[in-house]
Parts: sequence; C-alpha cells; structure tokens
Amino acid sequence: MKITEHLSKAKKVLFSLEILPPLKGNGIQSIYDSIDPLIAFGPSFINVTYHREEFVYKKREKGYLEKIAIKKRPGTVGICAAIVNKYKIDAVPHIICGGFTKEETENALIDLNFLGIDNVLLLRGDPIKTEASFIPEEEGHHYAVDLVRQVVGLNQGIYMDEDLQNAQPTNFCIGVAGYPEKHFEAPNLKNDLKYLKQKIDAGAEYIVTQLFYDNQKFKTFVNLCREEEITVPIIPGIKPISSKNQILTLPKNFHIDMPHELVEAIEKCKSDEEVKKVGIDWAIQQSKDLIEFGVPCIHYYTMGKSLSVREVVKAVF
Ligand code: FAD
Repeated sequence: MKITEHLSKAKKVLFSLEILPPLKGNGIQSIYDSIDPLIAFGPSFINVTYHREEFVYKKREKGYLEKIAIKKRPGTVGICAAIVNKYKIDAVPHIICGGFTKEETENALIDLNFLGIDNVLLLRGDPIKTEASFIPEEEGHHYAVDLVRQVVGLNQGIYMDEDLQNAQPTNFCIGVAGYPEKHFEAPNLKNDLKYLKQKIDAGAEYIVTQLFYDNQKFKTFVNLCREEEITVPIIPGIKPISSKNQILTLPKNFHIDMPHELVEAIEKCKSDEEVKKVGIDWAIQQSKDLIEFGVPCIHYYTMGKSLSVREVVKAVF
C-alpha cells in the first residue's frame, strides 16, 4: 500500500522505522534482529537507507596512489523484498542520485516495480568524502527533483527506451526529504523551501524530515511550508540519543542544533545506560508533543539501535 494511503486511512497517529543495511558480509538476519523487537508495536512501514560507494586512495609501489571504490553496505532492493516477504509490511527503499546514471536508476525502479514495491523515498545523496560538493554522474541526476521527475515519468509509462512497446506505467508513491533546520548547503531556510516546493510540484506526495531535537524548529518549519503552499503530509524524523559522543557527532553529521537542556542532561550522565535513558525520555516527550501538534506519523531513525526506539514506541503508541 502507498504511504499516502496509510496516512489517509489511519484512525490514529502512525509510526514508521528507518533501518540501515548492515555492513557487507552480514546476512539478512541482522536486519530481522533490528526489526523484530519493534514489530509487536505495529510500525506502518519501514524505510531502508542507501549508501553509495566511497573512493579511497591506497598507496602502491613507488608511491603511486590507486583510487579504489569501496561499497560498505548492500543495496536496498533485496532488503526491501525480504522485509515485505517476512513481515508483510511496506518497505520504502531510499533511491539516491549520487553514483547512478538515469539508466541504472530506471533499472532499480523496474526491479522494485517487478517485486510489487510501490513506495520510494527520493534523495540527492551527500557529496562523497573526496568531493568538495556534490558531483552527479555523467548521465545522472543533479538534484532530487530530477529523480522525482524520472519516477513521475515512469508512472506515466515513459521509459528511457523510446522503442519499448506497450510500456506499463509504474505506480510509485514518492516521498522526499525536508530539513526543519535547513539543508546545510542552502543559503537560508526560505531558499531551501523554494526547492522543497519544487519537489512537491514535480510530483512528490509527502515529506520525511531530517532528525531534530527541538520541536519548535519542526513546528516553525511546518508553518512555513504551509505558507509556501506545501500542503502534503510532513512526517517528523526522531532519533533517540544513545551515546555521549552523539552530542558532538549528530550536529556535525546532520547539521542540526541540540537544545541546551538536552546537552546539559547528557553531559551529567555517568554511564552509557544513563545517556540512553535521557535519550529515550527526550524522544518520548518529543513524540507526545508532536502528536499533540497534529503530525500524521512519526518516523524513528533506528540506526542499528532499535532497543531505544522500542522503549519510545512502547511509551507513546
Ligand atoms: P535536494 O532536494 O536535491 O537538495 C539539495 C540541496 O540543493 C539543498 O540545499 C537544496 O536547497 C538545493 N536545491 C535543490 N534543488 C535545487 C535546484 N533545482 N537548484 C538549486 N539548488 C537546489 N542520503 C543517502 O545517501 N542515503 C539515504 O538513504 C538517505 N536518506 C535520507 C533520509 C532522510 C529522511 C533525509 C532527511 C536525508 C537522507 N539522506 C540520505 C541525506 C540526503 O541525501 C542529503 O541530505 C543530501 O545532501 C540532500 O538530499 P536531498 O534529497 O534533500 O537533496
């Protein structure tokens, strides 16, 4: 079922999960191990992130450097198919522009359509570590909006092969990303919202946000979206803090602020267990307040830490 149908048919606030494919060499059981503790609470859908290959330089004889591509995690198509098959829950693969030509993207979409997976979250992807800014593949997409247009085209039966006879339209429901604290490259939030609206006008049907810890930032973002006539559902992304180090890494990696009160509470903790408790309590309060604000669904980033998310959904749903 499409995510938009989940949202429109819901009689209560829903919750969804986001999981990370395991490092290569691990099997599908590691995915099941992260979903199993949460399944009894009834997630409505499960997103699977995509991680593109990175390039590293290895020193070879006589000081030569060899550029090597390393892909650390498996792709999303097989994982999504396994989730749907095992749990009978909708899985949402993340599809990114980075590292893909339009043709490779179309092939992945054909595979998803073949498997009956009819939801996708479309993203640009970050620049890889060796790039100062995002560089699309030759014959690839530069922005998420270009990807949205490709999927909308497929939904109309427009494939890259012009000679394809009786092309069957796909039926993907399209989600895109939004940033309550603006995307790190955007000069300001208003400019970022202009491009968010472009993604919606191109055919995206709902928004999932970057994680945040200050609900006021999300509420202001939603109000600004509505002022800009972005009317689609906006699903907040929440991640319980699970280690002290995250008060440094999360702002750096996700370009977000952390409320002073939360940082102070974490700094006072004497063990990881105490940090986890603070993180869970904060996420519970955030979730309850967001439900009161009227969100249709809460999206929990598990990032391999499903036990903290379990405590949150147990208390909230
Ligand atoms: P875009 O919407 O293309 O925007 C990128 C930047 O360009 C923004 O600053 C925007 O304002 C600007 N912009 C957009 N369109 C235009 C235009 N036409 N002209 C000029 N400027 C423009 N990354 C992964 O690699 N894998 C994942 O699985 C993944 N999942 C994510 C899930 C969520 C919910 C979120 C919030 C992010 C996720 N990301 C993932 C990270 C995401 O790929 C990065 O944040 C990336 O830098 C931007 O992606 P986007 O789709 O928001 O890009």
